[in-house]
Amino acid sequence: MTQQIDNIIDTKGALILGAGVAGLFTALKLAPFPAVILADAHPGVSGSSARAQGGIAASVAKGDSWQSHAADTITAGAGLCDSEIAALVAREAPDRIEDLIRYGVPFDRRADGSLAVGREAAHSTARIVHIGGDRAGAEVTRALAERALETPSITVMEGFHAIELALENGRVVGMFARISAGSVRRLVLLRASTVILATGGLGALYAVSTNPPETRGEGLGMAARAGAVIADPEFVQFHPTAIAVRRDPAPLATEALRGQGAILVDETGRRFMPAVHADAELAPRDIVARAIHRELVAGHSVFLDCRQAVGERFAKAFPTVYAACRAEGIDPASQPIPVAPAAHYHMGGIATDKRGRSSLSGLWAVGECAATGLHGANRLASNSLLEALVFGARVADDVRATVAPRPGHGAIPAPDRYAAAPVPQVLRDTMTRFAGLERDAHGLRQALGTIGQIERAGGHEASLLNMTVTAKMVVTAALARRESRGGHYRNDYPSTNGTPARTFMTLADADKIAAGHSAQTPLKNHAVR
Ligand SMILES: Cc1cc2nc3c(=O)[nH]c(=O)nc-3n(C[C@H](O)[C@H](O)[C@H](O)COP(=O)(O)OP(=O)(O)OC[C@H]3O[C@@H](n4cnc5c(N)ncnc54)[C@H](O)[C@@H]3O)c2cc1C
Repeated sequence: MTQQIDNIIDTKGALILGAGVAGLFTALKLAPFPAVILADAHPGVSGSSARAQGGIAASVAKGDSWQSHAADTITAGAGLCDSEIAALVAREAPDRIEDLIRYGVPFDRRADGSLAVGREAAHSTARIVHIGGDRAGAEVTRALAERALETPSITVMEGFHAIELALENGRVVGMFARISAGSVRRLVLLRASTVILATGGLGALYAVSTNPPETRGEGLGMAARAGAVIADPEFVQFHPTAIAVRRDPAPLATEALRGQGAILVDETGRRFMPAVHADAELAPRDIVARAIHRELVAGHSVFLDCRQAVGERFAKAFPTVYAACRAEGIDPASQPIPVAPAAHYHMGGIATDKRGRSSLSGLWAVGECAATGLHGANRLASNSLLEALVFGARVADDVRATVAPRPGHGAIPAPDRYAAAPVPQVLRDTMTRFAGLERDAHGLRQALGTIGQIERAGGHEASLLNMTVTAKMVVTAALARRESRGGHYRNDYPSTNGTPARTFMTLADADKIAAGHSAQTPLKNHAVR
């Protein structure tokens, strides 16, 4: 970092970047080991966590088993799941739900008091615990944020926008963050014995996304710039049924609606999914999303018809989706909902082991920014909040066992909410057009050219670089994977290779791939939609 540092703060214990479910839960599981949660906004409202609708997968119902949950996870992952990780996540899931109950999460219950469970696509049975119908994310983050704010060992520092990891002899020893007070901007160095990234996904790098603007892949970008190994970056999941009403982020029509029997139809009422897959609307997400995409490309409109399956129960059973529809003048009880796929979840991320450790000493990662090997090429619905919980607990155990807390030092500023520059629209358009649901070598090379132009035009500014580096990891890994699998579909390589292999790469590897492609195919200036 060549800029002048205005403040240096030595944080006590662990420094966690991100106040979604992953960051909050890790801090709570660390307690009484001290933790500082750093985030750009108030805990409980930022990130994707607060927006999650369906719930959390866990084998808590009679007749279900962790083995069945693990098997469904592995089937959805299209050959790339780490089966040991899938087994441990499924096995530990019921205990993490118990933790949430202890933290005050009010799960929906049946008349006999047992946890109510719903079914979502590609699960062989009903195993999604939910809250207030479709309010899982809001209720879980609210409860965790309340507990974190009242826990003496946890310090929450809001209004910080982290831009770079601080390294000393190859070890991560803290991070640089920007703050602002009115029009004055300052650079702060936060030093810590342990840095835990919990920065969420990269959906906001796409023009059409269900993710909020703060999920711009910056944690992944910071880790890659520091030399960390990144795993499976090419695998981005597109949610099949974002509500197509031109809002950013796009509101979601939860998969639980299809779990309850809602069907996908075109403008004539033609149901098209039974011809695509034996499980019809409950086929894996990538298959449903591509089927909808192809209907749209063919000039059709696509609707989620909930009239038979949900009807008059809609407002009560799915209050969030109902409110989003009503805000656009749609009554989902009596009208089909217009839908389209949107970037939703990143299966790839900072490569981590069973303890949540990254390849860099001093750095752990948890939640959507990490790649544990659970999701493979395609995430099973409602496994992501679960992964954040299971690995939040594991990271906490590892840090407590291996790191000694140290005294804190330095005045903690109370800055305004930091307004980070938005993701350049040209980057979002490029990712949607060339690194979206369907990809090919020509488009991916075009994307690399645009990413390079954005970096040069931005003067290699740190926050912008975090985003472009993340985009570059996605695009180069997609170029290198000459097959179609799970969330990654290549029009020029539509079949799946016989030998599944995960991607593990550094930024240096990505730069080599990019250099190879620009040497083979000169990039033309091109217009981006
Ligand atoms: C609409 C929607 C519905 C979903 N439904 C479900 C569901 O039903 N079940 C399920 O399992 N999953 C669901 N998901 C996915 C799930 O919500 C996410 O994968 C999960 O919440 C990620 O949690 P996280 O804590 O890792 O990241 P997030 O919740 O995204 O939090 C990231 C945090 O990092 C902060 N941050 C990032 N970069 C910086 C920076 N540079 N400086 C400072 N702070 C930074 C953000 O402000 C935020 O506080 C859904 C996602 C969406 C968008």
